[in-house]
Amino acid sequence: MGDTGLERAFEKVRAILEGDVEHPGLTRQDLERLVGYPERGEGPLAYTLPPQPGLEGVRAVRFFYYPRDPEVTLIVEIEDKNGKRHLRHLKWNGLAWVPPRGGLKSDLTATRETVPVGLKEIRGDFYAGFTLEEAQALAERIRKGETAGEKYLLCPTDRTRILYSPSISPATLSCPRCGTTALLHKAFPIAPTTNYLEAKLEALLEEQTRLRQQLEGLERYLKRKLGE
Ligand SMILES: [Zn+2]
Repeated sequence: MGDTGLERAFEKVRAILEGDVEHPGLTRQDLERLVGYPERGEGPLAYTLPPQPGLEGVRAVRFFYYPRDPEVTLIVEIEDKNGKRHLRHLKWNGLAWVPPRGGLKSDLTATRETVPVGLKEIRGDFYAGFTLEEAQALAERIRKGETAGEKYLLCPTDRTRILYSPSISPATLSCPRCGTTALLHKAFPIAPTTNYLEAKLEALLEEQTRLRQQLEGLERYLKRKLGE
């Protein structure tokens, strides 16, 4: 069973953006007027649609305008009645709203999944382009602090980490939590982590025990020899 409230909201948003028999479609200039660009800053700027027929079945519909982004001009966020956010990414091509490059979700229809295809979540981190087994193995290495130098993307808004396989172009990824495409390129620190130091210390203690046992053995041997 689909969520009819959500489906109606998507229909409404599509009518607003593309126009219908009564209204022309929303242009970039219209959107700028709604969000208050440029008076309210460089963006991203948000506008919440007022309650109106078609939006009764959702909590909110928000437009996020990205005046500086060369690819994504508008992100539509529809928050359904369970609080789940459905994001759609659109680019203004001068005439109409079109899908941006990079395969970001842009179809104005209700779909049940909200996490982009192929993205797996483990312990709060997201993994793109990995099989579940690979993602789990990588998550384990992160936990143990064995990923020094490994690259990932960080969302500056909600600190979400996105790890991506070499087959994925990081430019195509957006934050699965808030939808931003302005992700920071990061790498795990090369400096030893606490876990690494702990493992090192443990190895040294083992070595020390082993040496002491050897010394004790030698001592016993020498005592025996000298006592003869
Ligand atoms: Zn985010």
